[in-house]
Amino acid sequence: MATYRYRCGSHGSFDLSAPIGTAPGTAPCPGCARPSTREYTAPMLGLAPRAAVALLDRTAATAETPAVVSAPPPRPAHRRTPLAPPNPALRRLPRP
Ligand SMILES: [Zn+2]
Repeated sequence: MATYRYRCGSHGSFDLSAPIGTAPGTAPCPGCARPSTREYTAPMLGLAPRAAVALLDRTAATAETPAVVSAPPPRPAHRRTPLAPPNPALRRLPRP
């Protein structure tokens, strides 16, 4: 569902929810039932969660100004996770 805005000459703007792409060109005003024309407005990005918008902005910024590094990140002083135990199936492989 998307929110579409319509404007009545007498009662001002009102919103109408409809599936995306199915907004009619005119909608009846809830105050006087006269056909009201659709207003084209900016998407309601202010209603999006800040964290999601920040992630989208950072992702878009990497396309134009990627972070350039001169070396790989330093290795940790010690390995935090223990090594996996050896796979017993590998012992059955033929040896040269
Ligand atoms: Zn009206």
